[in-house]
Amino acid sequence: MARAYNFSPGPSQLPLAVLEQAARELVEYGSSGQSVMEMSHRSKDYEAIIARCEADLRELMGIPDNYKVLFLQGGASTQFAAVPMNLMNGSGKADYMVTGQFAKKAAKEAAKYGKVNVVASSEADTYSYIPQPDPEKVDPQADYFYICYNNTIYGTVFQAPPETGNVPLVADISSCILSAPLDVTKFGLLFAGAQKNLGPAGVTIVIVREDLLGKARPDTPTMLDYKVMADNGSMYNTPPCYSIYMVGLVLQWLKGLGGVDAIYEKNKEKAAILYDFLDHSKLFKNSVRPDCRSLMNVTFVTGDPELDKKFVAEAAAAGLLNLKGHRSVGGMRASIYNAMPREGVEALVAFMKEFEAKNG
Ligand SMILES: *Cc1c(COP(=O)(O)O)cnc(C)c1O
Repeated sequence: MARAYNFSPGPSQLPLAVLEQAARELVEYGSSGQSVMEMSHRSKDYEAIIARCEADLRELMGIPDNYKVLFLQGGASTQFAAVPMNLMNGSGKADYMVTGQFAKKAAKEAAKYGKVNVVASSEADTYSYIPQPDPEKVDPQADYFYICYNNTIYGTVFQAPPETGNVPLVADISSCILSAPLDVTKFGLLFAGAQKNLGPAGVTIVIVREDLLGKARPDTPTMLDYKVMADNGSMYNTPPCYSIYMVGLVLQWLKGLGGVDAIYEKNKEKAAILYDFLDHSKLFKNSVRPDCRSLMNVTFVTGDPELDKKFVAEAAAAGLLNLKGHRSVGGMRASIYNAMPREGVEALVAFMKEFEAKNG
């Protein structure tokens, strides 16, 4: 089978050029006599790989010098615990916006370590929009304010970060990192698992303002302590070397395309093709409030679960893979991350039109 268009929410499609470069370098990296997988993480070759990866991420995202970049393991979900263990240690309270399942899981995990205050939730409306935080509920004493910026399962995104005054803003950007410009200085901490927009699973990026380091609870496992990881250049132990190398290739690819501003334009075009079709379709419908629509994850349904199933199966047979919605919500979801070319979205829309003509 030729390479298909893969709409998987994660792990997700990688740029072909990146896979081809990785294949060329798989057995021997440069003239090192070894694969990146076989290299000491303390070797000169590997030090150059991780240093370049960090420098490219800093350049692409405009990360200021007073922020540390950490390359960690355990996926984004480990950060649901690491964030409160490291930060919920002043007033012992934190504000959470519950805009989807990942935010809800994060709030639940944080409640093991302190007082979680839910300042907004769209759960009653199946997370179909981003609510406004209730000013009556927002706590100026909170140790941090937590959001999930792009809600992968429901297809919603914040249009701008909420204003939190002196309370550090923490955001899970797993499914939108590098998809659109983001002002890092508005945040105390950002984190992202790699397998949506950055590379293969196995590495989680944490970007943390330096003044937030060194406040971890005494019982924080060493491996979850941001300061330990920062002081050791993410090499307190063996980092996920190969995944970091792959992220480095993706960042080089993105720089070659012109960086975040350039990919943002492409992402807007791709999403518009799909949303425009959905808005005019008689069969398919997107249920997200229009001002909250994600550029990365586009959800839709026919209204008939049997027809949804048929669509997903026939699309897969036509080379449009992994369009099934999350198991908790059903329907369909097209994840159109940075690596999805415009042609993939056009092929999907053409297929949807055909399906609608036959089944509408
Ligand atoms: C995928 C995802 C997660 C979970 O990531 P893991 O690396 O599997 O733990 C968390 N948050 C968001 C926004 C995601 O998209």
